[in-house]
Amino acid sequence: MHIHEYQKLMHQLYFHKDSKRGTKGTYDRLVDEVTELGEALSGKDKEALEKEFADALAWLASLANVADVDLEKAATGKYNGRCPKCGSSPCKCPF
Ligand SMILES: [Zn+2]
Repeated sequence: MHIHEYQKLMHQLYFHKDSKRGTKGTYDRLVDEVTELGEALSGKDKEALEKEFADALAWLASLANVADVDLEKAATGKYNGRCPKCGSSPCKCPF
């Protein structure tokens, strides 16, 4: 599944709710999910960690839908096979 297809799936499932919530409300939910992801990283439950990654990604796609941003275009436009800062693959930027 491509990023565009995933974003379209999230649109099909949730846009009727996300559009009512708006960008700020949807962004707040993404922040909540990223916080939960951070908490799961400190645990040892791999299944819980995977679920938190899934939630964070779903809310990111929902936010992109509400903000009318094509995630695949944005992602591949900036990260198209090379580091956007140093132009190398793998990245050679100072750590
Ligand atoms: Zn770099």
